[in-house]
Amino acid sequence: MNSDSPLAAYAATDEASRGRRYPEPAPTLRSEFQRDRDRIIHSTAFRRLVYKTQVFVNHEGDLYRTRLTHSIEVAQIARTIARELRLNETLTEAICLAHDLGHTPFGHAGQDALNECMRTYGGFEHNLQSLRVVDELEERYAAFPGLNLTFETREGILKHCSVNSARQLGELGERFIQRLQPSLEAQIANLSDEIAYNNHDLDDGLRAGIISIDELTEVPLFRAQHDVVMATYPEVSGRRLIHEIVRRMINYVVTDLIETTSAMIAEAAPESVDDVRAGGGPLVLFSDRVAAEHQELKSYLRDHVYRHYRVLRMTSKARTVVRSLFEAFFARIELLPTEHHEAAIDMETQSGEAGRARAVADYIAGMTDRYAITEYERMFDPAQRS
Ligand code: MG
Repeated sequence: MNSDSPLAAYAATDEASRGRRYPEPAPTLRSEFQRDRDRIIHSTAFRRLVYKTQVFVNHEGDLYRTRLTHSIEVAQIARTIARELRLNETLTEAICLAHDLGHTPFGHAGQDALNECMRTYGGFEHNLQSLRVVDELEERYAAFPGLNLTFETREGILKHCSVNSARQLGELGERFIQRLQPSLEAQIANLSDEIAYNNHDLDDGLRAGIISIDELTEVPLFRAQHDVVMATYPEVSGRRLIHEIVRRMINYVVTDLIETTSAMIAEAAPESVDDVRAGGGPLVLFSDRVAAEHQELKSYLRDHVYRHYRVLRMTSKARTVVRSLFEAFFARIELLPTEHHEAAIDMETQSGEAGRARAVADYIAGMTDRYAITEYERMFDPAQRS
C-alpha cells in the first residue's frame, strides 16, 4: 500500500543519524545506510556465515539453513515490514544482515560452550561479538579498525546486553542503562529474526524427518494454515504442501505484526526517532493472540527439534570441540596461528588473563563449523598434519 510513500517522520534518516565513530565524508552515490549494508556484505565475517550452523550442522546436508541463508531470510521479511510502515528499509536490511556476524560455529551450542569457557573473563554474548566484529575485528580500512558503521546500524546489532557490558559501551550502551528503546528499524529486525527462525527451523525439522506434518497439527499456528491449504488443495502433498503452509504462516504473522505495529504507532504518535527511543516500550509487536501462538510454536520446536536426540548429539559434539580448543589455546597461546598469537600477547599485556581469553574467544568465534572440526583434528589427532 504505502510502498513508495516518503518515509515517516519517526523513520531513521541520514540527516538524523548520530554518525560514525570515525567521521567520514558523506557518500556520493549512496545513502549512509546503503554504505553500511554494502560494507557488511563485503566483510569477511559475512562470507563465513555460509559455513556456520543455524540448527543443523552444515555437513549434515546441503539444503539446511545456514547463518547466511538465515540472515538473508530475516532481511527479506524485515524489509517488507519496514517498507510497509514507511520506515528505513535499507537500515533494517543492514541490521538484519549483520545481526549474526559474531555467531560462533555450531549455533547456540557453540555460543553456550564459549560463554561457559569465558565465564570468569567477562562471558561471551553473540550480540556483543557481532558488534565487536564490525567495530574492531574486520580489517578492511587503512584509516580505522572495523567497518565504522553508523550508530543506528550498531544500535540495531546490539539487540540485548547485560548492564555490565553496557557500561563499557559508551553511547551505544546507554539505552540498556536508561531503559530506552532502539529505533523501529531495529525493533523490526529483532522480531523478523524470530519469524524467520521459527518458520525455517520447522521446515528444516520436517526435511530432517525429526518432526512430521501430522504431529505438527498439534500446533495451532501450523494447524490453521494446514487446514486452509487442505481445504483449498485436497490433493497437495510432500514439499509443495509444506511450503504452502509455511509461506502462509509467515504471511499470517507478518500481516499481524504490521497491523498491530501500525496501531501502536498511531496511538503513541512519535514525531521523531528520539520519541521512539524515549517511549516506554517497544512499538513493534505482535497482537497478544499471535504472540501466544508464536510462543507455542517456539516451545514445540524446542521440545521436538532442538532437543531431538540427533540435534543433541550434534550440540554435544560441538560443545566438546569448542571447549577443548578453548582450553588448549588458553593454556598455551603459542599454539595459536601467528596472527592470533600476536593478538593474544597484545591483549594480555593490556588486560591480563581476561585479554588473553578474549583473544582465544575471538579466534574460536570466527571459525566456521568445518574449520573448527579441522582445527580440533589438527590439535588432538596425532595422525593429522598440524
Ligand atoms: Mg538470528
